[in-house]
Amino acid sequence: MRTIGLIGGMSFESTVSYYQQINRHVAAQLGGLHSAPLLLHSVEFAAIAALQAAGDWHQAGVVLAACAQGLQRAGAEGLLLCTNTMHKVAPAIEAAVDIPFLHIVDITAAAVVAADIENVALLGTRFTMEQAFYRDRLQAHGLRVQVPNTVDQDRVHRVIFDELCRGRIEPASRRAYVEIIARLAQRGAQAVILGCTEIGLLLAHDDSPLPLFDTTALHARAAAEFVLGDVCSPPAP
Ligand code: GLU
Repeated sequence: MRTIGLIGGMSFESTVSYYQQINRHVAAQLGGLHSAPLLLHSVEFAAIAALQAAGDWHQAGVVLAACAQGLQRAGAEGLLLCTNTMHKVAPAIEAAVDIPFLHIVDITAAAVVAADIENVALLGTRFTMEQAFYRDRLQAHGLRVQVPNTVDQDRVHRVIFDELCRGRIEPASRRAYVEIIARLAQRGAQAVILGCTEIGLLLAHDDSPLPLFDTTALHARAAAEFVLGDVCSPPAP
């Protein structure tokens, strides 16, 4: 098996999901007591969130690139960045290492395209929904991407930072997300990308009026397949 390096802690609530899902997939494939050889660098999220709020993406890239280099030195053979938002600085991370970087957008887009879906809605942090880095990459895979209106974006963003990243799961927020998804369906979305690694903690497939593509589940599965040596990351667009 190959060793995978995780840059996590953004937030630690979703890194737990990654750890569990990668190991469960490897155990399901190999049986017995098998688990994934894995290295984790879990950052201090308050420091990263402060850089996000300040718009200092350059410094965030410097910090996460150093994490990536440390994981490579420690023996990681592939890298996973366990947050959608921080893929904004993926180019800085990829430039800092020689090992494969499993890009969350390419993995997610491949799953959406394989399901024959063209018109997809995107939920995530405000950074992910309103900035170009994520939508442009999805569009480069041939997808049409919709985001919620600004009021709904604000609600989605606040639930992530004020509740989910702090381990709070609120039924009222689940209902709000379902209503937001219903509005996106009325605008023609065929499915929803949960483009934030904590949303899967709030919303299950049965809750949603549209099919869900959970980036955490897809990314963790791709990581497990990398560990098992089955496949490599889907190609960049
Ligand atoms: N985990 C989140 C994401 O997937 C939000 C936390 C962050 O800003 O990194 O975007």
